[in-house]
Amino acid sequence: MKQIQNYIGGELRSPESGHSLGNIDPATGETYSLVPDSDERDVDKAVTAATDAFSCWSTTPVDTRSQILHKIADAIDANVDRLAHAECVDSGKPLSLARSLEIPRAASNFRFFASAIVQSKSESHATDNVAINYTLRKPRGVAGLISPWNLPLYLFTWKVAPAIAFGNTAVAKPSEITPMTAYLFSQLCIEAGLPPGVLNVVHGTGAKAGAAIVSHPETTTISFTGGTVTGREIARVAAPMFKKIALELGGKNPNIIFADADLDEAIAGSLRSSFANQGQVCLCGSRIFVEQPVYDEFLTRFVEATKRLKVGDPLDEDTNQGALVSHIQRDKVLSYIDLAQEEGGTICCGGELPEYLPVRCRKGFFVSPTVITGLSVDARVNQEEIFGPVVTVTPFDSEKQVIDYANGVEYGLSASVWTKDVGRAHRVADRIEVGTVWINCWLVRDLRVPFGGMKQSGVGREGGEEAMRFFTEPKNVCIKIPYK
Ligand code: NAD
Repeated sequence: MKQIQNYIGGELRSPESGHSLGNIDPATGETYSLVPDSDERDVDKAVTAATDAFSCWSTTPVDTRSQILHKIADAIDANVDRLAHAECVDSGKPLSLARSLEIPRAASNFRFFASAIVQSKSESHATDNVAINYTLRKPRGVAGLISPWNLPLYLFTWKVAPAIAFGNTAVAKPSEITPMTAYLFSQLCIEAGLPPGVLNVVHGTGAKAGAAIVSHPETTTISFTGGTVTGREIARVAAPMFKKIALELGGKNPNIIFADADLDEAIAGSLRSSFANQGQVCLCGSRIFVEQPVYDEFLTRFVEATKRLKVGDPLDEDTNQGALVSHIQRDKVLSYIDLAQEEGGTICCGGELPEYLPVRCRKGFFVSPTVITGLSVDARVNQEEIFGPVVTVTPFDSEKQVIDYANGVEYGLSASVWTKDVGRAHRVADRIEVGTVWINCWLVRDLRVPFGGMKQSGVGREGGEEAMRFFTEPKNVCIKIPYK
């Protein structure tokens, strides 16, 4: 069985404990590799390696850093098939999704920040005839980077690339549920010539390895993506230590369809935003609101389209819906489907385990994509993050009402709005309390724009300039002009 290793000080190493955790293929339910069960001793070694590497890496010319990051991007591109296969087996997502979207986006993360650092500008301000103020952006030291299981390599590199591009060194921990691509990635970093200690990858659980990264006195900066409950715990530990923290957390995103929308596009877009990656994308629109005049037509056509999605072996090219990431996640999703019925909802389709699965997948963690109607907007199923292939559809009467519905949850990550009325599009976008609004589209990404959530969906922003601000510290120098 394949043994995953930590990447510390430029070397692949076993954990100090000598213990491993089983890594399960969610499509089969079987353990197929072993993950280091690292603890604070491994984290301490990783932080020491990162601290030792910092003075050299932070003063390495930007061109050199950029070239190394480009090499890493090239290495990801050259290994798309291998990485996509690993991601598919680790997470249960369809191979086609990993190959076409996620792994290429991981390479883009590196390419984007490799280019950004050679183009970044600095600021200076002339203060009357008295002085010039110029602002230096200094890397902050050792960054602690913690990522979730839903988009494993993409979200991992979304943190690693900017952290090291701007001259920091890093100790990163992928989710223990989906560690394989981060392991393969650390091999690619060695091959690409990343100096030892610049990036260190410690595998293991959140309670041991993750908590040790957050509480280590030498990690100055913590970038975390994951659940809101975990984010709260990280803030509790890191805030009194005055660490800089960015938290990208959960969501319960509205997907709003006005009667004047192009219904073909709205249905196709809603299908993706509901069920991409089995609904396990933080940006999925799990609450669909449809204006009354088109509610019946939308629902009929949307349910038909949902039933046509093929649930199957993630390795099959024509599979649209793979497995959920774990049996815990599958059971959680099924419990919310039960709850929906208790709360008075109607299951229009899905809600059960898929009927036809290949033999090798019979013990996998599959749930058919599920559409629920008839729930109050205050029902728990409409309030709590489920993070699976489950959406609710609710009619609305007016723009004001749907804005209230959209904002009536504790989360504020993203929203989609479907309408041909440009004025309304801008108005609604302005009034919804979220970090990103997509109009007549979903998941269109531009790495230059700020990304993050409001309310319980997090604090801080990632992407472009925001990442530069997060991973660097401004230092202002005021020099007096010797005028008479
Ligand atoms: P999680 O919070 O359980 O785990 C995320 C990571 O944190 C894992 O690596 C885990 O090992 C680690 N961790 C757990 N406890 C920790 C602790 N006490 N200290 C330090 N690290 C700890 O989340 P998950 O189940 O892996 O991911 C799903 C969640 O992530 C969903 O809520 C989803 O909405 C959210 N998410 C948010 C975004 C975003 O950009 N806002 C993106 C993707 C996923």
